[in-house]
Amino acid sequence: MEVSALIHNYDIIGTPGGFLVGSGIDSEYVEVQKNDSGYICECFISRIDSEGRCEHIEAVESVSLGCNGNSPASIDQATADFYLGQIGSIDNSIEQNRNSANIQINQIQDWLESVIEKDERKKSYYEASLDAWMRSSGLKTKSLAHGVMKLRQQQPEIVIQDELLLLNDKRFVRIVPEKEVIDKSALRKHVITTGEEVAGISVNLRDDKFSYTVTSQMENKSNDVR
Ligand SMILES: [Zn+2]
Repeated sequence: MEVSALIHNYDIIGTPGGFLVGSGIDSEYVEVQKNDSGYICECFISRIDSEGRCEHIEAVESVSLGCNGNSPASIDQATADFYLGQIGSIDNSIEQNRNSANIQINQIQDWLESVIEKDERKKSYYEASLDAWMRSSGLKTKSLAHGVMKLRQQQPEIVIQDELLLLNDKRFVRIVPEKEVIDKSALRKHVITTGEEVAGISVNLRDDKFSYTVTSQMENKSNDVR
């Protein structure tokens, strides 16, 4: 069948709940979910097919023939350890790619800075000349074909040099009132210990959070999942 010949072009990522299927051509991933009667794909073809079938479902079915269809895949400790190792080497690969990209990003950044600096120096030459021209001509504003120039009086800048001395001059002192803010840790502690439903909050119970630490690299990397 044609479909099975194409399967090598699919990247199929499975979880107990379903699969992510990427086609090698456009690298777009679509989700194929498992239900009691079979598989459901979110793609367009699957939605218009009378039996709800598509290439993604066929690809998933062809790889899951060996596994027992409906029960979530359960793994043993050795596999779990292998998976952690896989994550470690994927992290390595990401790190290498990142470093390789950063080298080029830095080179491009250096190039950009050098050309900008050159242009800015040219610009400042013209600016200084125009500034001087406006002053010497006694102009406050001047409209020309390429733009408008203005010479505006500025407010004097006031620099506080001795704050303590200035604080003694009560004309320039104001009292900042204490602000009321939520004490979040006190709230959390109270809610958890008493279970009281405090007005103004909602409490959402959350599932245990999965996280892991991979030991394959020089430095340990921790990851919170979800
Ligand atoms: Zn599909």
